[in-house]
Amino acid sequence: MADRDLNHLHPQVEAAARAAIAECEAAGMPVLVTCTYRSDQEQNELYAQGRTKPGRIVTNARAGESFHQYRLALDLYPLVNGKPDFSGTHPNWHKIAAIFIKHGFEWGYNWKRFREMPHFQMTGGHPLSYYQRGGQL
Ligand SMILES: [Zn+2]
Repeated sequence: MADRDLNHLHPQVEAAARAAIAECEAAGMPVLVTCTYRSDQEQNELYAQGRTKPGRIVTNARAGESFHQYRLALDLYPLVNGKPDFSGTHPNWHKIAAIFIKHGFEWGYNWKRFREMPHFQMTGGHPLSYYQRGGQL
């Protein structure tokens, strides 16, 4: 089961996420957070999905290669009539993303290589290698 606890994010990311979520809710666009922190083991299991395990490929990141592992990312879905919109087509996606981007997040939807629509991350402008070397936000 994925960790969905906002308290397990980096404090700065947690504060920005809480502010963005509150703003979405105030605008009538509640969200469902499905993942915050992810361990090496969980990341490797996710990477195996669609490769050595059944399912659809959902990530190109192996252990150590996801910002979730550095507590800098969260995955979320718009709640529409109380249910998460897994189709990715509801107009709230782009409105919610605009709010998160305003609060300092990057949106996985804008990635060229492999789009991750539910994924939002805050990197401080640093590449992944910075965090892999022990860098801090
Ligand atoms: Zn993600």
